[in-house]
Amino acid sequence: MTATATRVLVLNSGSSSVKYQLIDMNDGTRLAVGLVERIGEQTSRLAHTPLAAGGDKRETEGAIADHDAALKAVAAELAADGLGLDSPQLAAIGHRVVHGGLKFTEPTVIDDAVLKEIERLVPVAPLHNPANITGIRTAQAMRPDLPQVAVFDTAFHATMPEYAARYAIDVETADAHRIRRYGFHGTSHAYVSRKTAALLGKDPSEVNVIVLHLGNGASASAVAGGRCVDTSMGLTPLEGLVMGTRSGDIDPAVTFHLKRVAGMSTDEIDALLNKKSGLIGLCGDNDMREIRRRIDEGDERARLAFDIYIHRLKKYIGAYSAVLGRVDAVAFTAGVGENAAPVREAAVAGLEEMGMAVDASLNAVRSDEPRLISPEYARVAVAVVPTDEELEIAQQTYALVNA
Ligand code: ADP
Repeated sequence: MTATATRVLVLNSGSSSVKYQLIDMNDGTRLAVGLVERIGEQTSRLAHTPLAAGGDKRETEGAIADHDAALKAVAAELAADGLGLDSPQLAAIGHRVVHGGLKFTEPTVIDDAVLKEIERLVPVAPLHNPANITGIRTAQAMRPDLPQVAVFDTAFHATMPEYAARYAIDVETADAHRIRRYGFHGTSHAYVSRKTAALLGKDPSEVNVIVLHLGNGASASAVAGGRCVDTSMGLTPLEGLVMGTRSGDIDPAVTFHLKRVAGMSTDEIDALLNKKSGLIGLCGDNDMREIRRRIDEGDERARLAFDIYIHRLKKYIGAYSAVLGRVDAVAFTAGVGENAAPVREAAVAGLEEMGMAVDASLNAVRSDEPRLISPEYARVAVAVVPTDEELEIAQQTYALVNA
C-alpha cells in the first residue's frame, strides 16, 4: 500500500447479487456505488453510479453467469471511470462475510487459513458464506497483491455473555456441532449503537441502547455501554423478529410436526421458514409499503400480518429493557426502521410506563440524518438512525490495513 492509497472497495456478495461501494477514506466520500442482481439468470442486471464523476446511473442487462463474471463486469465499470481495481489509490478490499463463527470476532486480513475457516462455517451459513467465499476468491485473483479484509456480521455479538449466547440444550451436543447464538447484522448494530450515542452527545460506553434493525431481514440487539449483551438472531438469521420472509421465533416442535404429520422434507421446512414465512407467508407481501397500502384499503390479512410483526417487536423491546435494566435509547434502522413511521409508532405505543413514547410530528419527518422522534419529556430517547454497513466495513478495513 502506498501513502496515497486511501480508497477502499467494499464488496457484499449475496447468493445471487453483489453490492459494492468504492469509498475514499479521507472523508468517507462515495466515489462509486452499484449492484449486480440476478446473477446466474438470463436477466442479470448491473446498475453502476459513478458518483465521483458526477455521472448518472448506468444500467446494463444481460446474462451474467456467476460471481466471477459479475465482479469482472463491476471492475470494467469502475475502470471506465478511471477508478479501476488496478488503481494505486486502492488500499484494500473489504468483504462482508456473514458468519464468522467463534473464531472471528474482529475484522481479519484474509489468507488461505482464514478462507478455509470461512469455508468450514458453510454448514451454519449455507445461504451466505459460499457467495462470500466466491467474492473473495475472485477479488483475490484480480488483485493478488492487495490486502483483502473480511468483516463479519457475527463479530459485534461476540461480547454476549455465555448465558445469553448458549441455548438450553445438551451441552455436549451443542458444542460438538457449534450450536449457539451467534447473531447477525453486527456491523449495523455496531454502527447504529455508536451513532445513537453520538446523537445523545455521549460516549458509547455511557449509554444502553436497544437497536432494532428492521430490513427485509430483521434483528434486535441490546447494547450496554457499547458492547452487545444480547441479540435476537441465533445460530442462523432465522430466529427472533418477524421478517419479510422468515418466521423468526417459533416452537421448534413445529418442525417435527411438519416432518411427521405434514410429511415435509428438511429442505422443504427450511424453505418454508426462511422464504415463505414472516410477512410474505402471513399476507403475501413482504414490502412494508405494500402492506401499509393494503391496510389503508381495509385488507384484514395485511392488518393481521402487521399486528403480528409489531407484537413480536414489542416483546423484544420489553425483553431487552429487562436485560439492560436501564435503557437510554431505542434506535430504529434499516429499510423498515428508517422509513416506516407507522411501524415505529405502533412498536412504541403503550410503552409510556417504560419511559418510551413517539412524537407524531417528529416521527413523520423524512430525513437521511440520525434524529430523535421522542417527545422531550420521555425518559428514553427514541431515534431513527440510518445504518451504513458499507461505511462501517470500509472503516474497519482501512483501520486494519493501516494498523
Ligand atoms: P435488506 O438489506 O434486508 O434487503 P433493507 O434494509 O433494504 O433490506 O429493507 C428493505 C425493506 O424496507 C423493504 O422490503 C420494505 O419492506 C422496507 N421499506 C423500504 N422503503 C420503505 C418505505 N418508504 N416505507 C416502508 N417500508 C419501506
